[in-house]
Amino acid sequence: MTINSQFDVIVIGSGMGGLVTATQLTAKGAKVLVLERYLIPGGSAGYFEREGYHFDVGASMIFGFGKNGTTNLLTRALKGVDMEIETIPDPVQIHYHLPNNLDLKVHQNYDQFLQGLIQKFPNEEKGIRAFYGECWKVFNCLNAMELLSLEELGYLMRVFFQHPLACLGLVKYLPLNAGDIVNRYITDPELKKFIDMECYCWSVVPSEKTPMINAGMVFSDRHYGGINYPKGGVGKIAEKLVEGLEKKGGKIEYKARVTDIILENNKAVGVKLANGQEYRAKRIVSNATRWDTFEKLLPQEKMPISEQKWQQRYEKSPSFVSLHLGVKAEVLPEGTECHHILLENWENMEKEQGTIFVSIPTLLDPSLAPKGYHIIHTFTPSYIKNWQGLSPQEYEQKKEKCAGQLIKRLETIFPGINQGLDYEEIGTPRTHRRFLGREDGTYGPIPKRKLLGLLGMPFNRTAIEGLYCVGDSTFPGQGLNAVAFSGFACGHRIAVDLGLK
Ligand SMILES: Cc1cc2nc3c(=O)[nH]c(=O)nc-3n(C[C@H](O)[C@H](O)[C@H](O)COP(=O)(O)OP(=O)(O)OC[C@H]3O[C@@H](n4cnc5c(N)ncnc54)[C@H](O)[C@@H]3O)c2cc1C
Repeated sequence: MTINSQFDVIVIGSGMGGLVTATQLTAKGAKVLVLERYLIPGGSAGYFEREGYHFDVGASMIFGFGKNGTTNLLTRALKGVDMEIETIPDPVQIHYHLPNNLDLKVHQNYDQFLQGLIQKFPNEEKGIRAFYGECWKVFNCLNAMELLSLEELGYLMRVFFQHPLACLGLVKYLPLNAGDIVNRYITDPELKKFIDMECYCWSVVPSEKTPMINAGMVFSDRHYGGINYPKGGVGKIAEKLVEGLEKKGGKIEYKARVTDIILENNKAVGVKLANGQEYRAKRIVSNATRWDTFEKLLPQEKMPISEQKWQQRYEKSPSFVSLHLGVKAEVLPEGTECHHILLENWENMEKEQGTIFVSIPTLLDPSLAPKGYHIIHTFTPSYIKNWQGLSPQEYEQKKEKCAGQLIKRLETIFPGINQGLDYEEIGTPRTHRRFLGREDGTYGPIPKRKLLGLLGMPFNRTAIEGLYCVGDSTFPGQGLNAVAFSGFACGHRIAVDLGLK
């Protein structure tokens, strides 16, 4: 069956990037349709429920809910469609448990964090203050200006005349990586490894490959807007955006898997769904990864040269093994923080299942688990190739073994956890690929080699007329606040292209 409704914009996917684009455009009066292959919105920022537990699929350390400045993009995205969410501030971003007893908490309070780090590396006080000080310079520039499409000349000129110093400051940092700045100020190899981990835990690459713009944002905003957990779980953000979208006249369809982007005269004019339905629009936005967009939704032979070049610069990061546990509350020692990172040996930081990430959102919002229990979401990078070619029985056995190994490693920070288990479910890169619709279950693009900071990341327009990309394979990369930035930029660029105010 073919439906020929004419929309202004079709957004493929309701991840945070897609939803911010859709809500921004709907608020500006565009007729928008979001097509989501899954049953609920949110993608990697979705949730699932089991036996009284409300698990976040992925993200749980949430930036972007600050009250001041311009970098609080989740607060702003919700406000764009007259919505808001109650959030719970997290006093500590991460509790690190690193090799050689490097045990350190990143407090929301900047001075407290610096004091803790300087205590561990007293000879590097000057370097520590200089490195994190430069991060603040980046952040202060970003936080002074409205964050919209860098592909729109009118906006660039406006913002330059309003904030010339901030703009010039940012231009300086754009081609740099965090490692370039680290090397200017810091010599202690252990401290350099610590900063590598500070980068790796969200960029999945060490500091030499992590763009300074992103580092400046993350290392400062955690002390400025802070980390804030949405009450009721991370899934609430997408639910509220959808509520706002629909109230303003936008539409969303679930179980609507797009199989093809329809091209006419090399221009994107519509989409075709798995059930055969077709929809047309003036502009098409893909919230799928670039690999899914240009290798699956479009014919391979139509891959633009710019995309081929992009694939030479960026590769797929690993996916994750995700262990979702329900545990008795007494397993957690008094004063346990919400987010932890565990690594026993520096050599393993980037290796398959080397670094362990832990999130215990019930410490902030107890309503997510039955009374007297907590959620412990543990995840660690893993490549899909290690989970392929297995019989169903081998796959189950491998999952069970992997869960056992992770729980054993967790015993070092939560002694007795094994005895306190109430619920256990493990997902693999295959699970991420299946439920999130992401090629190989990847967390997103990472530089293949050291690049010039963020200069290599594409903006929202593509080489195919009428087709835009949004989300973590566009500027500025992974993370909810980052993809919200890309959503604001995409919505803005399309609004200008459609002549909307
Ligand atoms: C385990 C894990 C932990 C994380 N932790 C954090 C964290 O603590 N803090 C943080 O900020 N970030 C975190 N992230 C990263 C963050 O979640 C992502 O960067 C962000 O959510 C990506 O958003 P997106 O809009 O790019 O795409 P996605 O979330 O991938 O959404 C894309 C959507 O498009 C849909 N879709 C895809 N193809 C089609 C199609 N053909 N037809 C219809 N629909 C389609 C998908 O179903 C999905 O809903 C984490 C990610 C993971 C996996």
